[in-house]
Amino acid sequence: MSETFESVRDRIVSSTGIPREFVTSNVITRIAEDPLFLSHLEACARDTEMLRILIPERMRTEENYDQQSRVATPELLGRAAGALARWAASGFSRVDDAEYDRRREICRKCDHLSRPPRESLLYGLLGSAAGEKSVCGLCGCDVGKKARLATERCPDTSEGQDGKWHK
Ligand code: SF4
Repeated sequence: MSETFESVRDRIVSSTGIPREFVTSNVITRIAEDPLFLSHLEACARDTEMLRILIPERMRTEENYDQQSRVATPELLGRAAGALARWAASGFSRVDDAEYDRRREICRKCDHLSRPPRESLLYGLLGSAAGEKSVCGLCGCDVGKKARLATERCPDTSEGQDGKWHK
């Protein structure tokens, strides 16, 4: 069965508690491109002010529903649904401290670990320390957050499809 905008939106709302009006086609597209965005949204689901920062006005504008529906292509809807399904299947789970420390140590030694952009308000709000290397240069995720999620993978496949965190 192919995914529809409404079916994916309904699942995101019921799984995360994000108010429906925030789950626009633009947001679903972003989730498809960056599954970690889903965890940021879920963490802020009941904090409207944070949601407004994570989902700026241009992403929330949905004056023309049909137009929005065209933005999220079937491929992107499928990917967003897949990210949500993987995370839900894991029970929205986090890894234990030992696995978290192991992943962080691998990141610390990785050439892709970068400093967050100085001007980025979002990284600051997510707790990324300014000036410290805390962002993965390949995916743009804060590795301190990314490494906690059981469903996340290191994106560096230069040494194997499963990335550097693979055991
Ligand atoms: S997630 Fe992977 S590629 Fe990114 S900084 Fe960590 S080890 Fe490097």
